[in-house]
Amino acid sequence: SPKLTINDLHVSIEEKEILKGIDLEINGGEIHAIMGPNGTGKSTLAQALMGHPRYEVTGGQVHLDGEDVLEMEVDERARKGLFLAMQYPSEINGVTNSDFLRSAINAKRGEGNEVSIMKFMKQLDKKMDQLGMDESFANRYLNEGFSGGEKKRNEILQLLMLEPRIAILDEVDSGLDIDALKVVANGVNSMRNPDTGFLIITHYQRLLNYIKPDYVHVVMQGRVVKSGGPELAERLEAEGYDWVKEELGIED
Ligand code: ADP
Ligand code: MG
Ligand code: MG
Repeated sequence: SPKLTINDLHVSIEEKEILKGIDLEINGGEIHAIMGPNGTGKSTLAQALMGHPRYEVTGGQVHLDGEDVLEMEVDERARKGLFLAMQYPSEINGVTNSDFLRSAINAKRGEGNEVSIMKFMKQLDKKMDQLGMDESFANRYLNEGFSGGEKKRNEILQLLMLEPRIAILDEVDSGLDIDALKVVANGVNSMRNPDTGFLIITHYQRLLNYIKPDYVHVVMQGRVVKSGGPELAERLEAEGYDWVKEELGIED
């Protein structure tokens, strides 16, 4: 079962310190929700974990199953089972969604261990069916302009196809109507198992009505300032973030 440990992680963007010492431990089978006001460093955490070059780690450690993640190249992190739903490289022309997924899977599996096309197609069919996606979606070009809802569904399709050890979802609920939200939540819930741990970043509690987190962490000003269970998310939904700030004496 996977274990991701983050110790005292400090991250800067262009010399400005954004994360000021993050501590988290995520085990397989657990769903951790990260909540917090806009601009507090939630996406920075996701990007730094995946090794985005713009995010400079200036201190702390990250280990996946005891291995030093910060020493790994980006593709190695993916191979070891870290997953962040991918953005769309808009400059890619003539690549279908299915091509894109297959190359992501093969990048993870590594050279000499590529998935057979037959097996891939069978799996893709099954997962798209599960997410209620139209078959034509597989053969659409990435640059053809997916709608917001289609992109989110596609992120969940990536998740189901790649079966990561630690899955990071950043604002996967933003801009979704309730039906699309349920599809996304069902996809995540279908992946709840001891071999996968989740880090779900969300500004709103709404998603957590459908994906019950085991732990909720509030990030403010680059730190985890409060942790609790699902009831913490409910209180944030009802009362906003001001009470946390007051409790901790944080000024805006
Ligand atoms: P959140 O996801 O919690 O809304 P972010 O991690 O996106 O917050 O951003 C944290 C802070 O870092 C913000 O103050 C934001 O303005 C700044 N920031 C984010 N991305 C960049 C960037 N590429 N260049 C400069 N500053 C950035
Ligand atoms: Mg933001
Ligand atoms: Mg963000």
